[in-house]
Amino acid sequence: MAASGKLASFRLPPLPTVSELIKLYNLRAEKQLSQNFLLDLRLTDKIVRQAGNLKNAHVCEVGPGPGGLTRSILNAGAADLLVVEKDTRFIPGLKLLSEAAPGKLRIVHGDILTYRMDRGFPRTVSKPWEEDPPNVHIIGNLPFNVSTPLMVKWLENIANRTGPFVYGRTRLTLTFQKEVAERLTASTGSRQRSRLSIMAQYLCTVHNCFTIPGRAFVPKPEVDVGVVHFTPLIQPQIQQPFKMVEKVVRNIFQFRRKYCYKGVEKLFPEARRAELTEEMMQKADVDPTLRPTELTIPQFRALSDAYAHLCNRDPDLLSYEHREELRLSHLARPNGNTPHS
Ligand code: SAM
Repeated sequence: MAASGKLASFRLPPLPTVSELIKLYNLRAEKQLSQNFLLDLRLTDKIVRQAGNLKNAHVCEVGPGPGGLTRSILNAGAADLLVVEKDTRFIPGLKLLSEAAPGKLRIVHGDILTYRMDRGFPRTVSKPWEEDPPNVHIIGNLPFNVSTPLMVKWLENIANRTGPFVYGRTRLTLTFQKEVAERLTASTGSRQRSRLSIMAQYLCTVHNCFTIPGRAFVPKPEVDVGVVHFTPLIQPQIQQPFKMVEKVVRNIFQFRRKYCYKGVEKLFPEARRAELTEEMMQKADVDPTLRPTELTIPQFRALSDAYAHLCNRDPDLLSYEHREELRLSHLARPNGNTPHS
């Protein structure tokens, strides 16, 4: 009986290879949809290993396409795999996989940007936020133009414990353009430090797992790809509402090479700019001559708290958007010309 554990583990039966399936169903990659497939199952196994132990896990795979990663997730022992695919051409191939893994694979034809993942799994899989993460994972190799906006949306979901995070601290393992993976994980002072670094790291532990060379994909993309793993933090490092943090971070990073107070100034209407910027920097106790890339997350927390304090005192500040003011003044000018044009 020593082998009973082994007997219980699931392996897919022999199937046509992913390349054969692509030929069988004539699944030419659509350039407009930035489709780049992974055909090497050793590589998809390696991506799936970054997610941790998937035994009996509930997994949502985003953009399964011809199903390479899908096979690896099933072979890793997932009990319930929900795949969300936008392109109908992949559905028959995924059905073949579903027949080979009875009761384990659910196929949704839909757009992950609008899919209600809060309804995707039974609530019984949930774990309280303060406990260990639930056995729920999101895994995906998405096109670059989808993965970044999707991640930003999921970061907001993490802050509000909505969407995939109604189950608790659902973990994510996703691919990004290498440069974006570097930005997501960049530490204070590094060249890649950006808005995305702060937004991801104040809410999650973020780990840049490994880089996949572009040549591993079919067709080969222009760039290399980074695999990034996220675990939401029990306690976000900044306690203010997501939209407010996003506004502070966005304004500060708009002048990434200048002193940070330059971006802070743009949080305030011109008439009170100097006075309120000085008050905010003093309250946050942040050196105004640091560059945005040199600021730590505790400093962004202090700046967000100071901004929240000013907005509590004067709620009109919250709706002030410098870019909007510029746009309106631009429109008001004859011919829409800028002052120096
Ligand atoms: N996972 C497969 C692999 O690794 O070989 C395919 C990867 S390919 C880069 C991206 C996949 O995501 C394609 O199958 C594409 O149709 C799908 N996709 C693109 N946008 C999507 C969206 N908004 N929602 C769901 N799937 C999407």
